[in-house]
Parts: sequence; structure tokens; C-alpha cells
Amino acid sequence: MSRDGVGTAGFTLIDDAPLRDRNTLRVDARAAWLAEVHDAAAIPDLLAHPALHGKPMLLLGEGSNVLFTGDYEGAIVSIATRGVEVLEDDGSSTRIRVAAGEHWDDFVRWTLGEGQPGLENLILIPGSVGAAPMQNIGAYGVEAGEFIESVEAFDMHEHRFVHFDNAHCEFGYRDSVFKRHPDRWLITAITFRLPHAWAPRIDYAGVQDELKRMGIERPAPIHVADAVVSLRTRKLPDPKQIGNAGSFFKNPLVPAAQAETLRAEHPQLPCWPVPNDLAKLSAAWLIEASGFKGAREGDAGISNRHALVLVNHGHASGAQLWALAQRVCADVRARFGVTLEPEPRVIGAGA
Ligand SMILES: Cc1cc2nc3c(=O)[nH]c(=O)nc-3n(C[C@H](O)[C@H](O)[C@H](O)COP(=O)(O)OP(=O)(O)OC[C@H]3O[C@@H](n4cnc5c(N)ncnc54)[C@H](O)[C@@H]3O)c2cc1C
Repeated sequence: MSRDGVGTAGFTLIDDAPLRDRNTLRVDARAAWLAEVHDAAAIPDLLAHPALHGKPMLLLGEGSNVLFTGDYEGAIVSIATRGVEVLEDDGSSTRIRVAAGEHWDDFVRWTLGEGQPGLENLILIPGSVGAAPMQNIGAYGVEAGEFIESVEAFDMHEHRFVHFDNAHCEFGYRDSVFKRHPDRWLITAITFRLPHAWAPRIDYAGVQDELKRMGIERPAPIHVADAVVSLRTRKLPDPKQIGNAGSFFKNPLVPAAQAETLRAEHPQLPCWPVPNDLAKLSAAWLIEASGFKGAREGDAGISNRHALVLVNHGHASGAQLWALAQRVCADVRARFGVTLEPEPRVIGAGA
């Protein structure tokens, strides 16, 4: 193992690095090199390091949206910069610059503690602030991209620092320009603009029901946060207790006519209209109807709480988890003619 001093170099470099504690599916993979960046200004020096010369590079946050199906033969670059800075409060909104290595949930709680609402529906999403723009994280009817003013990044191809305003991030549903070009831009910091004007975003039926259960009629931001925490804690397995990457399968989009035919045969199948004559189907329903909810093959399984969640009961390898996920997809395709896609990034051999 070799290390460069953090104080002098601004990064740490480790060879043959274990990844089990760096992915929430708790897969026991290794990386040929792992670089942890503590000072964004040191990125050019890191990339010039002889150990990394000619190596493929993978960017990693807290590993809550990845599946390693084997060891990674290149260099993993993880940003561990810290810092939250209020840039400006113009009376109608607050601009806050956050380093990419901050933990997302800590940041959300910090904003609420400061009396600044907006992000409460996104509480308890695992992962780093730097990864939030990647798939434009979203939950309970709110997306992070709505509050992102700009993103600072290092262009790994052109070796220079770059700046994206909101429009250039091309945010969509679980999508962005960053997601479409993985490993191209190492996100180093994000500036959020949080308006002072606030109205609760509680259209999502589950949140309303939860607030009712809590006996809250006119919710403040903290009540919405509490309702979301309570819903998430009940529905989603905690990665600290059982390895998982949240929802492993995306809700599939199919032509509206195909959705109609399916609904004629299976009236309980949840289905939502989408523009361009498409329909979104519930992947959870399709998986449960295929008999996979709670299924287990060795230590690889599908959660018995939520059919979208692939779980590691202990020592499943990434290849075993991926094999089970592929079996789920093949079965759903054979039964319903619908192709499921993974939401997390699948990395390594066979992916
Ligand atoms: C229990 C659970 C619940 C979840 N719930 C939700 C949810 O409600 N909504 C939701 O949207 N997601 C959810 N997720 C997924 C996950 O939390 C998010 O995608 C999160 O943003 C991933 O952050 P991370 O730091 O772990 O990224 P990683 O998993 O490390 O990386 C994810 C992707 O981002 C890239 N990346 C990471 N950091 C950077 C960076 N600094 N610069 C450039 N690229 C980078 C990686 O290359 C990879 O492609 C959930 C996951 C779990 C385990």
C-alpha cells in the first residue's frame, strides 16, 4: 500500500484498495488504485501522478448507486472535499455553495436547522452532495435539480475546471448531462439557490397520509421532513443493516398501446401516462407478480419489504447479485414482454 500525504498533496493514493466499505451493497471488490481528493485544486497534480498514467478512471461518491460485479482494474477517484458556505442572502433566496464530498442528508438537515426550507422532501437520500446532480436525485415529488444554480467540475478529458449553470446540466427525470457522460466531469462543488417563499410539496399521497397520521394539518418544513423520514424508514431497508442500493430497477416506459393491452390482462398493474404516447409501469408490481419479492439465492436477494430493492444478505458477490437481477429481468420479460433496466451504475466484468 502506498500513500501520499494529504497535507502536502491534497489527495491520498492507495493501491489494491478494498471497496466493501465504499459501496452500500457491501460487495467485496477491489480497485487497482483508489485516489481520495481532499482539495479540489490538487486534481491536476493527482492526474499527473505516474501511478495513474494511462489507467481508466472511475468517479465514485459514497457508492450508494453502484454495483461492482468484479474488481476494478483502473483508478477510482473519490472526492472527499468538505465545506458549506452561504454566499448570499438577497432577501428572497439564499445561495449556498457546498463541497462535493459533503454527505447529502447532513446538508439537507443543516439547511432545515438554519431555517431554510426547500430540500425537506429529499431528506435521508444516501450519498454525497457531488453525486446529487448525476441522476438529479428525487423523492416524493421533488428533484434536487430544481434548487441547483450551478455545478463546478473538473473536465477529465480536457484537464480543466469547468462551470455548468442549471440549463447546461440538462436535468431530467433521474437524468442529467453528467449521467449521460459518466466519468467525464468530476463534480467538485455545487451552488444551491433556496427561495425563502415556501409552500409544502405534499401532492404525493403517501406524504399526505403520513402527515394525517401525525395529526398535522398545516405542516411546517420540519413536519414534511419528519413525514418523509418516517415513510422512508418504514419502506426502504437501511443499508447499514442490510446491503442495498435503494431501488435497483427503474419503472419501465412502454408504448401506451402496450400498456393498455397489459392492463386489460392485469387490471391491478399500476400505470401512469407519460407524454409522447408512452406509459410508465410499476416495476415493483411486475417483479412482485413474477414471484421475486422476498426471493433469495444464496446471499443475493430481493427485499421482502420492497420488490425494487436488491439486497445482499451477507457475502453475496457482485456477480451473484447481478445474476439475480438479470434473472428478474428475464422472467419479467418472458411473462409481460417488458424490459426492466437497472437504476444504479453496474461496473465491471459482465456488466
Ligand atoms: C436506501 C437507498 C435509498 C435511495 N433512495 C433514493 C431516492 O429516493 N432518490 C434517488 O434519486 N436516489 C436514491 N438512492 C440512490 C442514491 O442515494 C443516489 O443516487 C445518490 O445520489 C448516490 O450518491 P453516491 O455519493 O453514493 O454516488 P455513487 O453511488 O458513488 O455514484 C453514483 C454515480 O455518480 C457518479 N459520481 C459520484 N460522485 C461523483 C462526482 N463527485 N462527480 C462525478 N460523478 C460522480 C458515479 O460515477 C456514479 O456514476 C438511494 C440509495 C439507497 C441505498
